[in-house]
Amino acid sequence: MARIVMKFGGTSMAGIERIRTVASLVKREVDAGNEVAVVVSAMSGETDRLVNFCREASPLYDTKEYDVVVSSGEQVTAGLLALTLQAAGVSARSWLGWQLPIATSDAHASARIEAINADKLGAAMASGQVAVIPGFQGMTEDERVTTLGRGGSDTSAVAVAAAIKADRCDIYTDVDGVYTTDPRIVPKARKLNYVTYEEMLELASVGAKVLQTRSVGLAMKEKVRVQVLSSFVEPGQAPKPGTLIVSEDEIEDTDMERQLITGVAYDKNEAKITLISVPDRPGAVATIFGPLADASINVDMIIQNIAHDQGSTDVTFTVPAAELTRAIDVLEKAKATIGYEKILQDPKVCKVSVVGVGMRSHAGVASDMFKALAERGINIQAISTSEIKVSVLIDADFTELAVRVLHTAYGLDAEETAA
Ligand code: ADP
Ligand code: ASP
Ligand code: MG
Repeated sequence: MARIVMKFGGTSMAGIERIRTVASLVKREVDAGNEVAVVVSAMSGETDRLVNFCREASPLYDTKEYDVVVSSGEQVTAGLLALTLQAAGVSARSWLGWQLPIATSDAHASARIEAINADKLGAAMASGQVAVIPGFQGMTEDERVTTLGRGGSDTSAVAVAAAIKADRCDIYTDVDGVYTTDPRIVPKARKLNYVTYEEMLELASVGAKVLQTRSVGLAMKEKVRVQVLSSFVEPGQAPKPGTLIVSEDEIEDTDMERQLITGVAYDKNEAKITLISVPDRPGAVATIFGPLADASINVDMIIQNIAHDQGSTDVTFTVPAAELTRAIDVLEKAKATIGYEKILQDPKVCKVSVVGVGMRSHAGVASDMFKALAERGINIQAISTSEIKVSVLIDADFTELAVRVLHTAYGLDAEETAA
């Protein structure tokens, strides 16, 4: 007998037919004698719909009420799955975030899970009842509903797995594992049998949305065994093995031939800002990024050019596209302190990244990347690197081309086109 967490994403929960398939996958695990907790997302498209309602109601909405609205999608699917399981003869009940509770910080719309009380869950599961938990939601100390940021159900699932000391956490989605790049834009992408926590963390943080970044960080910290696999199975069929997220030592023990680069990811949700003619003196950059940090706006890539003759310089950086308007507002208010001449903004950019632990011991990964992009006439607007990643900022129109070119350049293409 094992204790397992099964998480189903939006496409897996999109409608009663899909929920029946999910129920059959859960029933298989119950029938095999396992104790099961299920974490569910809202039906696909539902969270977007709810977010739009909030924007329509009040463009500068109160995030506490936003959380009340957008968390509701998961309440619906949790109840529906419990009902469907009961109809299939499986004992099940839903546990909403506030009923456990799942305690979070008060950073509404992007709250962090602080603790999960596993007492009720453990008791219910030990009695043979499936616990169905809506992902994405929690509660603050002063009993306000919170949400964890988009894609947050993955983090809920890993946090539940850590709290109940689950033997594994299976993340069911609409692709059958983690691929060398998004299989929806590169049909030649290859499924990976294993990926390390570190690589997955980098891939997720640079745009591979198959797992929310925070869920990977948490799994690494809490040593949760995560598998990504597909919920799209024929009725009654067992799921196919997916991708296991493992530690670096474990991967060295497998016979898998490691590639230099594990994957390519892209992120269109960044926007570029350039401040023209910022005085080139100590402290100038702090006057730009201080107010942005105070407004909780994350800055990603930064380039500062060499000073012009007049002792001023241009500073370019990226912020999340959703924060562009707020960032411009903050910078305009700080214009006198920063002392720049003009602001330029460009939301039509994309960050393309290559990731791989093999990079640690190999030189030339970045230069191969620049060469491959240059051969296709793709201009690089900014660059950033980490120990196991190189990212470039390009015109968003070239996203697909850049991802394909890099996928081929690093030898990641599958022999045959995936079906
Ligand atoms: P869910 O609703 O199940 O949480 P998501 O839409 O959040 O699913 O994540 C799954 C999607 O992630 C896939 O449909 C795929 O298009 C995308 N994706 C991006 N990069 C990758 C990758 N490297 N491997 C697999 N899927 C990826
Ligand atoms: N429903 C939420 C979203 O769409 C959370 C999730 O699906 O992970 O972001
Ligand atoms: Mg997701």
